[in-house]
Amino acid sequence: MVAGGHESSTSAFGQRSVPPGCVAGLPPMGGMARSLCLARGAHGNHRWSLGGHAAVLARSLGTMLLFSSLGCGSPVTQQAADDADDEASLSSWTASMSTSNYLLDISVDISMATDSFLVTAQGDGGYPAMEALYDPRGQRVLDWEDWYDGTYSLTEAFFPYYDELVFNWPVRQEDAPLETGTWVVELAGTRNNGQQYTNMDMDITVQTKADPRISDGTVHVRIVYARGLDTDAAVSSAVEEAVANWRNIWDSHGLSLEVEYDSSDLSPDLDYPGYNSSAYLAETFRSDGEQVTIIIGESLGGDTSIFGMSGGIPGPLVATDRSCVAISWLAHAGQDAVFSIDELRVFGETLAHETGHYLGLFHPVETTWSQWDSLSDTVDCQNMNTCESQLGSNNMFPYPVCTWQSCQAQDQLSDDQVGVTMYYSGTL
Ligand SMILES: [Zn+2]
Repeated sequence: MVAGGHESSTSAFGQRSVPPGCVAGLPPMGGMARSLCLARGAHGNHRWSLGGHAAVLARSLGTMLLFSSLGCGSPVTQQAADDADDEASLSSWTASMSTSNYLLDISVDISMATDSFLVTAQGDGGYPAMEALYDPRGQRVLDWEDWYDGTYSLTEAFFPYYDELVFNWPVRQEDAPLETGTWVVELAGTRNNGQQYTNMDMDITVQTKADPRISDGTVHVRIVYARGLDTDAAVSSAVEEAVANWRNIWDSHGLSLEVEYDSSDLSPDLDYPGYNSSAYLAETFRSDGEQVTIIIGESLGGDTSIFGMSGGIPGPLVATDRSCVAISWLAHAGQDAVFSIDELRVFGETLAHETGHYLGLFHPVETTWSQWDSLSDTVDCQNMNTCESQLGSNNMFPYPVCTWQSCQAQDQLSDDQVGVTMYYSGTL
């Protein structure tokens, strides 16, 4: 049931899969499978190990199952959002650095006005991963070993899945406010054989957000149609309705959407974000550096049973090969390829769900029922029935909960989930 495509296991993280009760022949919604955000497997050919941590890392591979979601983003820097009530702004700097031994310390100076920061490290032929975070007093507030193998998920930055690392801080309300002074983000470089990368070059971008009102915010979204879809009236009107449904979900939580639409020459059969997709890299260079790019295609990796996939948890704002959310319109339209009201609602929920991953949200529980987000107000349920009953209406639940007639609304976000989205540096 997992929409796979990659070697490796599928599973858990970031995956919104077919409703267990409806596998095979699922009736609702025209019987299509719903794997929102494919999972990224524990890459079969990689044995991640960082120097001295080799044993631990190797052991944990089996459990890390993927985190999935991949997404599509953008470069440049822009000033301020034009929200009437919230003049948040982003500033950024870039630098080329390289690891010494296999570690690289990035210093991030935080002033009184700064509420969050986002680090993107693009590795040259290697895979960067978060080693530790130090606060201005020199205290190690995050340690990769506490999260790599654990049952709670905080950020994908601990895992060398991609050739770029994305780390946003604070993640949760409880991690805030950001103390002024110099924070140090310590990264480790690995090669694809899992060995430490002694002199790995990385292009670093640090974006800091100043936000006078962190309790609400606007996400700037650029919706890009794959080739030919912008002129397909059935598709574009469905997308616009789905966006209206998405806006309703977010509005009630203080999250606003600013949307612009664009066309492109991307193939309607979308790549999975992050798999060396040079097309996504080129496309996301067109965005303004504070937008989340959402690509609307027909299928993902040739599969029309995957709803969508986010380029990361969280995703980057600078252009990379995974700086986007990839969405299949056809998966939502079902076998008849015509949208019902219910399908348009689920389409909107998917847009909110995948973009939620991009802003840093994990599923409150993964479908192993033994891995949870790190938020205290989403229950740690432990089996399918209990989880569907306690979390089935949550927008970040891993799959739509459906009967033969319809799928239940998934429009809820907890206060702690909303907090994560507000601290994402691209929420202005
Ligand atoms: Zn998901």
